[in-house]
Amino acid sequence: MPRDAFLAFPPRGVPRIPASRRSASAGVVLRAILHHGSISRSMIARRTGLSSAAVTGHVAELVGLGLVRELPETTGPNGLGRPHVPIEVDTDRYLVCGVHLAVPAATVALMDLRGEIVASQRIPHRRPDPSTVIEDAAVVLRDLLAARPATAAPVGLGVATGGWVDPESGVLVEHAVLGWRDVPVAEMLAGHTGLRVEVDAHSRALLGAEQLFGAARYQASVLHLFVGNVVDAAFAIDGAVNHGPRSAAGAIAHLPVEGSDDPCSCGRVGCLQAAVAEPTLVRRALQRGIIREPVFRDLVRVAETGDRQAKALFAERAVLVGRAAAPMIDMLNPQLTIVMDPGLRLFPESIALLRAEVRTRSQVCGDVEHTVVATTFAGRALATAACSVMVSQLFADPLGTVPVAVEGAS
Ligand SMILES: [Zn+2]
Repeated sequence: MPRDAFLAFPPRGVPRIPASRRSASAGVVLRAILHHGSISRSMIARRTGLSSAAVTGHVAELVGLGLVRELPETTGPNGLGRPHVPIEVDTDRYLVCGVHLAVPAATVALMDLRGEIVASQRIPHRRPDPSTVIEDAAVVLRDLLAARPATAAPVGLGVATGGWVDPESGVLVEHAVLGWRDVPVAEMLAGHTGLRVEVDAHSRALLGAEQLFGAARYQASVLHLFVGNVVDAAFAIDGAVNHGPRSAAGAIAHLPVEGSDDPCSCGRVGCLQAAVAEPTLVRRALQRGIIREPVFRDLVRVAETGDRQAKALFAERAVLVGRAAAPMIDMLNPQLTIVMDPGLRLFPESIALLRAEVRTRSQVCGDVEHTVVATTFAGRALATAACSVMVSQLFADPLGTVPVAVEGAS
């Protein structure tokens, strides 16, 4: 059984409100239970290095909060071995909410505590100004919550988006594609919903989701690349996601990439975002007659039919992403590199092109087949990113996030 390398660390770099030591320790126990599906108290102690007494205390707290539940007592095969009571994450009591802000739509979603998206709705922008987009998202969220099982309480709302986001202040500092600057998204959504709101960049949020529910569960150092309408990166060292001052880490949009001469909004040519982001693919698809309207979803639909020209566009992108990833991999030397690129889902063979480029150009990355992988959350990445912001907070600081004991819990 692989050891949970990051269990000792919170999934996020700098939670807005730092967890108390007791809550951080309860979070370690909660993540151990999540990662094992169901696990006995003695096994939790062995996996986490916490004392049996500490584990027993934290399990009682987590049961009291309704975050975990006890399963019927079991023994080993054929009734042998000491009886034990497995503990599992309780998925019935709570949901987390998420709002992902992008162009040309927002995504609103609900997630259970095992990372399953239980409801999700895409909302095309009526107008792209912050007030309209956020108000529309709040209305849809209210509808989704009204349709949820009555027993599941919303524990808070996560907001994820591209561009520069500052989790500490809850402000979207800059999103060039949306044209937003210094928008207090946390305050605005808290006003509409009455929920606690946490904000983060979507690449960091997806990395948090990979650590909790996906491919990064047993990896301490991870590089995550997000390739969509915007391009950004996130990385975790020793299990902790790096934010840097004002959470500006991961801004790779204007990294020069060899083999591209696309003009960039910054005035230069050959920047990564200009070379691989969705508007560029759409422009090329229009030029090559693959689509008639400048709509990325049209290109995806054509690609889904197996169209060779559309496939070639996504293949070119995979090569450029691999080219850009290689020096990042050399600098960070991560155990795992995860790429969120919708083209990898449409054409699974394009991951081979990306890996080949990394293999050729990286000085340190040997085993690309196992260390460079596509996202765990293909087809649900935006909803997962949004909800992950809050669920990561919950798993890092369970006692601070769910402060009131649930009625009827033992
Ligand atoms: Zn640029």
